[in-house]
Amino acid sequence: MIKANYHTHSVLCDGKNTLREMVDSACDKGLHILGFSGHAPMNFVSDWAMDKDRLEKYVNEVKQLKAEYKDKIDILLGIELDADYDGFDIGDFDFTIGSVHQFRDGDKDFPIDLSAASLEKTVEEQFGGDWYKMCECYYNKLADFICECKPDIVGHIDLVTKYNQGYVYFSEEDERYRKIALRAVDKILDCKSDIIFEVNTGAMYRVGKTVPYPAPFIMEYLKKRNAKITVTSDSHSVDSLDFAFEKAFDYCRSFGFEKLTLLTSEGRICCDL
Ligand SMILES: [Zn+2]
Ligand SMILES: [Zn+2]
Repeated sequence: MIKANYHTHSVLCDGKNTLREMVDSACDKGLHILGFSGHAPMNFVSDWAMDKDRLEKYVNEVKQLKAEYKDKIDILLGIELDADYDGFDIGDFDFTIGSVHQFRDGDKDFPIDLSAASLEKTVEEQFGGDWYKMCECYYNKLADFICECKPDIVGHIDLVTKYNQGYVYFSEEDERYRKIALRAVDKILDCKSDIIFEVNTGAMYRVGKTVPYPAPFIMEYLKKRNAKITVTSDSHSVDSLDFAFEKAFDYCRSFGFEKLTLLTSEGRICCDL
């Protein structure tokens, strides 16, 4: 089986290791393909995304590593675009991930995945404590952004569940929530039918979530809609590049998926699960 990861951060945004350290670790772990996805510069000041100077450094370094390691591993220059990214030309990248990490109100930032406390504050201050309203706004913002920028991969589609283990904030079984999430899936697939949904193990590593994003009911629906999937680790450190991949593969198989869609320097391929 071809081993690949397309969701990889470094010290140039909010990761812990250099690009080279991530590449060396990927080689050690036997990955065949490594896609970097640094956070694109935002249209506001942020401490987790790259600024313009770092972006330039990022692009140059990844290209250099791609050439240097070409006989060992296929390195792809990607980028994680947030709905509030600063809108630069994205023509130069091998692939893009489209994600939403916060709401904006004027010049104020209301984070979704920074911490449980910051998400509680977001829901309280922006949505009057209504978690379903927050979810609705999140999925609408994500689907609108995906339709506008048509990235290759949808990033952590149900990021709003990051701190919701045991349904401490809202019930993911509630029809209100499920309808909102599945409506976003429909809208995204209507805009770009060959888009890839990532099955992302990042929160399993970072906050001990028991399953990857997306939740089982979304996985079932993706299978029903014949959507394409890939497994990613949303890695911010050398030790997590292929974290829980075997579990994630089993998770995908349990919904009847038989193939993953992989990106390579030569284009897309399908790989048996
Ligand atoms: Zn992200
Ligand atoms: Zn990320």
